[in-house]
Amino acid sequence: MGTIRENIERINAEKEQFAAACGRKGDSVLLVAVSKTRTPEEINQAIDAGITDIGENKVQEVMDKFDSVKPVRWHLIGHLQTNKVKYIIDKVCMIHSVDSMKLAQEIDKRAQQHGLTMDILIQVNAAQEESKFGITTDETRQLILDILDQCPNIRIRGLMHIAPFAENPDDVRIYFRQVKELYDQCAKIDHPHLDFQYLSMGMSHDFGVAIEEGSNLIRVGTAIFGERDYSKKNQ
Ligand SMILES: *Cc1c(COP(=O)(O)O)cnc(C)c1O
Repeated sequence: MGTIRENIERINAEKEQFAAACGRKGDSVLLVAVSKTRTPEEINQAIDAGITDIGENKVQEVMDKFDSVKPVRWHLIGHLQTNKVKYIIDKVCMIHSVDSMKLAQEIDKRAQQHGLTMDILIQVNAAQEESKFGITTDETRQLILDILDQCPNIRIRGLMHIAPFAENPDDVRIYFRQVKELYDQCAKIDHPHLDFQYLSMGMSHDFGVAIEEGSNLIRVGTAIFGERDYSKKNQ
């Protein structure tokens, strides 16, 4: 592992290579630095090294760090409980983990109270892993239609997917491909509050395969900040 800056430069170069291999430009893939368990100082180092977007999977971590981190776009990428939406509705630019009508309705209600339109992604669990949140590929289209119908303060910007862990990421390529196909189908839905622009797939160990299969937003933590230590206090 290098410094945070070196790691970001390396990932940007890799991102460039994977994108070029499938005829795309490196800057068409947004790098979201996943800063869970990391301190505001570490996050600010990443911002100084060019990071524009950071991702947290817990509401509490967004709230704890928000005031100490330099201006940046915050993404909520982890499972979101409905009773916590109110704490982050005016802090994050996009919620990646919408997988139920109940959650969408709460986001819609809080967005309306703040006079804003919230950008969301639908979290798809293509491998149907019990341990992961997200809805099945079969249910995705209907959830999108229901949200468009009932939640005027939400704009649906795309899909998010977390692939099962595989020693060799080639083994989960199939899931990335399925989600990309679903993305292309859903992008055609004609509605003023549907504006597909983000296919959020790929983490430290599998972002290369994800980009090859069409991801344009990667969520990378470990490869930027190093291994996480969940035993430390406040984490
Ligand atoms: C932690 C996390 C990541 C980043 O994982 P790394 O393996 O550290 O890159 C990406 N997405 C989600 C939803 C996460 O919770």
